[in-house]
Amino acid sequence: MSIFSNIASYFRMWRLKKRRQTVVIRGSCNLCGQCCREVCLYVGSKWLRTEKQHRKEAIENPYLNHFKPIGKTDDGFLKFTCTRLNENGTCSDYKGRPLLCKRFPTTSIYFQHGQLPKGCGFRMSTEMDFEKLLDDARENDDGLEYDEKIHSSDSIKIPSKKCS
Ligand code: SF4
Ligand code: SF4
Repeated sequence: MSIFSNIASYFRMWRLKKRRQTVVIRGSCNLCGQCCREVCLYVGSKWLRTEKQHRKEAIENPYLNHFKPIGKTDDGFLKFTCTRLNENGTCSDYKGRPLLCKRFPTTSIYFQHGQLPKGCGFRMSTEMDFEKLLDDARENDDGLEYDEKIHSSDSIKIPSKKCS
Protein backbone atom coordinates (compact mmCIF):
# COMPACT_ATOMS: atom_id res chain seq x y z
CA MET A 1 0.00 0.00 0.00
CA SER A 2 1.36 3.43 -0.84
CA ILE A 3 2.00 5.83 2.00
CA PHE A 4 -0.78 8.11 0.73
CA SER A 5 -3.44 5.39 0.54
CA ASN A 6 -2.28 4.15 3.96
CA ILE A 7 -2.73 7.61 5.42
CA ALA A 8 -6.09 8.02 3.64
CA SER A 9 -7.36 4.71 5.06
CA TYR A 10 -6.23 5.56 8.59
CA PHE A 11 -7.83 8.96 8.24
CA ARG A 12 -11.14 7.36 7.26
CA MET A 13 -10.91 5.03 10.27
CA TRP A 14 -10.02 7.87 12.60
CA ARG A 15 -12.83 10.08 11.30
CA LEU A 16 -15.41 7.32 11.73
CA LYS A 17 -14.19 6.59 15.24
CA LYS A 18 -14.33 10.25 16.16
CA ARG A 19 -17.88 10.53 14.84
CA ARG A 20 -18.83 7.32 16.66
CA GLN A 21 -19.80 5.80 13.31
CA THR A 22 -19.35 2.45 11.71
CA VAL A 23 -19.57 1.00 8.18
CA VAL A 24 -22.68 -1.03 7.54
CA ILE A 25 -23.48 -3.27 4.58
CA ARG A 26 -27.12 -4.09 3.98
CA GLY A 27 -29.08 -5.83 1.27
CA SER A 28 -28.68 -9.13 -0.48
CA CYS A 29 -27.18 -10.63 -3.58
CA ASN A 30 -29.38 -10.41 -6.67
CA LEU A 31 -27.01 -12.68 -8.63
CA CYS A 32 -26.20 -10.00 -11.20
CA GLY A 33 -22.62 -11.31 -11.48
CA GLN A 34 -21.13 -7.83 -11.69
CA CYS A 35 -18.59 -8.57 -8.94
CA CYS A 36 -17.15 -11.30 -11.21
CA ARG A 37 -17.47 -9.44 -14.49
CA GLU A 38 -15.92 -6.02 -14.13
CA VAL A 39 -13.94 -5.57 -10.95
CA CYS A 40 -10.78 -4.04 -9.56
CA LEU A 41 -8.65 -6.19 -7.29
CA TYR A 42 -7.05 -5.25 -4.01
CA VAL A 43 -4.25 -7.74 -3.34
CA GLY A 44 -1.33 -7.69 -0.90
CA SER A 45 -2.54 -4.37 0.58
CA LYS A 46 -2.65 -2.58 -2.75
CA TRP A 47 -4.86 -2.13 -5.79
CA LEU A 48 -3.61 -3.82 -8.95
CA ARG A 49 -2.78 -1.14 -11.51
CA THR A 50 -0.54 -2.84 -14.07
CA GLU A 51 -0.46 -6.18 -15.84
CA LYS A 52 3.12 -6.64 -14.62
CA GLN A 53 1.91 -6.23 -11.04
CA HIS A 54 -0.91 -8.71 -11.74
CA ARG A 55 1.53 -11.33 -13.10
CA LYS A 56 3.85 -10.83 -10.14
CA GLU A 57 1.08 -11.21 -7.57
CA ALA A 58 -0.26 -14.28 -9.42
CA ILE A 59 2.97 -16.16 -8.63
CA GLU A 60 2.10 -16.09 -4.93
CA ASN A 61 -1.68 -16.14 -5.44
CA PRO A 62 -2.42 -18.53 -8.35
CA TYR A 63 -6.17 -17.81 -8.14
CA LEU A 64 -5.36 -14.45 -9.76
CA ASN A 65 -4.71 -16.28 -13.04
CA HIS A 66 -8.47 -16.74 -13.38
CA PHE A 67 -8.91 -12.99 -13.56
CA LYS A 68 -8.33 -11.51 -17.01
CA PRO A 69 -7.50 -7.79 -17.39
CA ILE A 70 -10.05 -6.05 -19.64
CA GLY A 71 -8.96 -2.43 -19.34
CA LYS A 72 -8.54 0.31 -16.79
CA THR A 73 -10.77 2.59 -14.78
CA ASP A 74 -10.51 6.37 -15.17
CA ASP A 75 -8.41 6.32 -11.99
CA GLY A 76 -5.89 3.93 -13.52
CA PHE A 77 -6.89 0.71 -11.74
CA LEU A 78 -6.89 -2.50 -13.76
CA LYS A 79 -10.35 -3.88 -14.48
CA PHE A 80 -10.77 -7.66 -14.58
CA THR A 81 -13.30 -10.23 -15.58
CA CYS A 82 -13.24 -13.72 -14.11
CA THR A 83 -12.87 -16.62 -16.50
CA ARG A 84 -14.74 -18.89 -14.08
CA LEU A 85 -17.95 -17.04 -14.60
CA ASN A 86 -20.58 -19.08 -16.45
CA GLU A 87 -22.75 -17.52 -19.13
CA ASN A 88 -25.73 -17.67 -16.80
CA GLY A 89 -23.86 -15.51 -14.26
CA THR A 90 -22.98 -18.32 -11.84
CA CYS A 91 -19.53 -19.42 -10.68
CA SER A 92 -18.21 -22.58 -12.33
CA ASP A 93 -16.17 -23.35 -9.19
CA TYR A 94 -18.40 -22.02 -6.47
CA LYS A 95 -16.98 -24.30 -3.74
CA GLY A 96 -13.39 -23.58 -4.71
CA ARG A 97 -13.78 -19.84 -5.21
CA PRO A 98 -11.09 -17.74 -3.54
CA LEU A 99 -11.56 -16.17 -0.12
CA LEU A 100 -11.91 -12.72 -1.64
CA CYS A 101 -15.06 -13.93 -3.45
CA LYS A 102 -16.40 -15.71 -0.37
CA ARG A 103 -16.04 -12.58 1.72
CA PHE A 104 -17.49 -10.16 -0.79
CA PRO A 105 -18.70 -7.54 0.05
CA THR A 106 -16.68 -6.59 3.14
CA THR A 107 -16.56 -3.26 4.96
CA SER A 108 -12.84 -3.04 4.09
CA ILE A 109 -13.99 -1.80 0.66
CA TYR A 110 -14.89 1.49 2.35
CA PHE A 111 -11.45 1.90 3.93
CA GLN A 112 -9.72 1.01 0.67
CA HIS A 113 -11.71 3.78 -1.07
CA GLY A 114 -13.47 1.24 -3.23
CA GLN A 115 -17.13 0.92 -4.07
CA LEU A 116 -19.67 -1.78 -4.79
CA PRO A 117 -20.29 -2.66 -8.45
CA LYS A 118 -23.10 -0.85 -10.24
CA GLY A 119 -26.34 -2.80 -9.84
CA CYS A 120 -25.12 -4.72 -6.79
CA GLY A 121 -27.95 -5.69 -4.44
CA PHE A 122 -25.89 -4.67 -1.40
CA ARG A 123 -25.39 -1.10 -0.28
CA MET A 124 -22.75 0.36 1.98
CA SER A 125 -23.22 3.29 4.34
CA THR A 126 -21.80 4.84 7.47
CA GLU A 127 -24.06 4.99 10.50
CA MET A 128 -23.91 5.76 14.19
CA ASP A 129 -22.23 2.95 16.08
CA PHE A 130 -24.72 2.34 18.87
CA GLU A 131 -22.47 -0.22 20.56
CA LYS A 132 -19.76 2.44 20.90
CA LEU A 133 -22.29 4.97 22.12
CA LEU A 134 -23.49 2.50 24.75
CA ASP A 135 -19.90 1.79 25.81
CA ASP A 136 -19.29 5.54 26.16
CA ALA A 137 -22.45 5.90 28.21
CA ARG A 138 -21.33 3.05 30.48
CA GLU A 139 -17.87 4.61 30.88
CA ASN A 140 -19.42 7.94 31.81
CA ASP A 141 -21.81 6.29 34.24
CA ASP A 142 -21.33 7.82 37.69
CA GLY A 143 -22.80 4.79 39.43
CA LEU A 144 -26.18 6.30 40.24
CA GLU A 145 -29.31 4.22 39.91
CA TYR A 146 -31.83 5.31 37.27
CA ASP A 147 -34.25 6.95 39.73
CA GLU A 148 -31.40 8.81 41.36
CA LYS A 149 -30.00 9.81 37.97
CA ILE A 150 -33.13 11.44 36.58
CA HIS A 151 -33.46 13.51 39.73
CA SER A 152 -29.76 14.16 40.11
CA SER A 153 -30.23 17.80 39.12
CA ASP A 154 -32.57 18.27 42.11
CA SER A 155 -30.95 20.18 44.91
CA ILE A 156 -31.83 22.47 47.82
CA LYS A 157 -31.69 26.11 46.75
CA ILE A 158 -32.71 29.41 48.20
CA PRO A 159 -35.04 30.91 45.58
CA SER A 160 -34.07 34.26 44.22
CA LYS A 161 -36.55 37.11 44.56
CA LYS A 162 -37.44 36.87 40.84
CA CYS A 163 -38.53 33.24 41.23
CA SER A 164 -40.72 33.73 44.21
S1 SF4 B 1 -14.14 -17.32 -8.83
FE1 SF4 B 1 -16.37 -17.46 -9.06
S2 SF4 B 1 -17.18 -16.08 -7.50
FE2 SF4 B 1 -15.04 -15.54 -7.81
S3 SF4 B 1 -15.04 -13.91 -9.34
FE3 SF4 B 1 -14.78 -15.85 -10.41
S4 SF4 B 1 -16.82 -16.48 -11.01
FE4 SF4 B 1 -17.03 -14.92 -9.42
S1 SF4 C 1 -22.41 -7.53 -7.57
FE1 SF4 C 1 -23.53 -7.75 -5.65
S2 SF4 C 1 -25.57 -8.47 -6.23
FE2 SF4 C 1 -24.23 -8.77 -8.00
S3 SF4 C 1 -23.52 -10.89 -7.79
FE3 SF4 C 1 -22.00 -9.59 -6.81
S4 SF4 C 1 -22.63 -9.53 -4.63
FE4 SF4 C 1 -24.37 -10.29 -5.83
